[in-house]
Amino acid sequence: MQVRLDIKDLARYPFLKESQQYVGTQSESLDQFLAGSQGGLALGKAADRVNLAITFRRSKDEGEKRPEVPADDIHVKLEIFSYGLARVLVSCMKDRTLIDRLARYEARRAAQFLADEDPDKKAYVAESLGMDLNEARMPLVAYVDLVAPLRDERWRLVNRSVHSGSVLLRGDDEQREIDELLAERIRVVLLRQLPLQVPPSVCEQVRPITEHLNATYQQQMLRDLGPIDEGRYPPCISALITAVTEGKNLTHPGRFAMTAFLHTIGMSSTQIVELYCRAPDFDLQTTMYQVGHITGGGGTEYSPPSCATMQTNGICIGKNALCSRVSSPLGYYRRKKE
Ligand code: SF4
Repeated sequence: MQVRLDIKDLARYPFLKESQQYVGTQSESLDQFLAGSQGGLALGKAADRVNLAITFRRSKDEGEKRPEVPADDIHVKLEIFSYGLARVLVSCMKDRTLIDRLARYEARRAAQFLADEDPDKKAYVAESLGMDLNEARMPLVAYVDLVAPLRDERWRLVNRSVHSGSVLLRGDDEQREIDELLAERIRVVLLRQLPLQVPPSVCEQVRPITEHLNATYQQQMLRDLGPIDEGRYPPCISALITAVTEGKNLTHPGRFAMTAFLHTIGMSSTQIVELYCRAPDFDLQTTMYQVGHITGGGGTEYSPPSCATMQTNGICIGKNALCSRVSSPLGYYRRKKE
């Protein structure tokens, strides 16, 4: 399908190959671009983009502001560049949860533009992401793959009609379902492209910005999670804490999971080290070093593992009903609050 895309379309849908080609024709090397005045402005916009991703809420707010594309070409161009630079920033920050937030934010932003888009352009964007909007059905395998992370019960296969290897979209709500699936498809495609392989020299160049974003991100996480509440710990983390306080040694993945989890929900490094002091092999210097390394002392702050990783490492212990609705111990902790 051929459609005419103007520069504002490239800013609305910066993940399209045409947007990437546009960036390729406009810029010199990344370091040179960043060192110039336009690079500085685009970087500022990229930081704004990551900040919006940090404060972004999954559920739509009533008063959620719709995104806009600037009126003049210079700012539209900076907007297109800021998309790529935001991906550079989160790639340098090496935090999977933040990468996930950026993909969600970008998907929602694009979906808001698509909601009012010309049908041909909308179909073109969908086609470029491997979706055919002319069909009110999806191949079964593609459907199952796409809806797996969606929580709403209506996406479950038992609640759908399946014919000849395809899942039918609901006739009475077809347009809304197409929009939601398209947004999810954008998120999945963007997520698969991240993190980017960014040269260390570039990460060093943007370090003042990533450090600032990291501080904002930590504050936001703590605000989202609220005060520490042991009653909300997932069974696996409770089991690890019980084991260590009963004087048992934890495996390396167990130590990593417990430390990263407790740090993420706001426990201080000193409190975490104190938990380990009953372990038979406790050594203060080694434990302080290990906890410091996981919590960002070495320049990288690690996120707690997913349930899949916990299972692989044999530390998914005490699964309960809520576990089937989350994909990570941190997700469990959040859901428990809800
Ligand atoms: S399913 Fe996830 S949250 Fe539940 S016990 Fe296993 S690792 Fe922990």
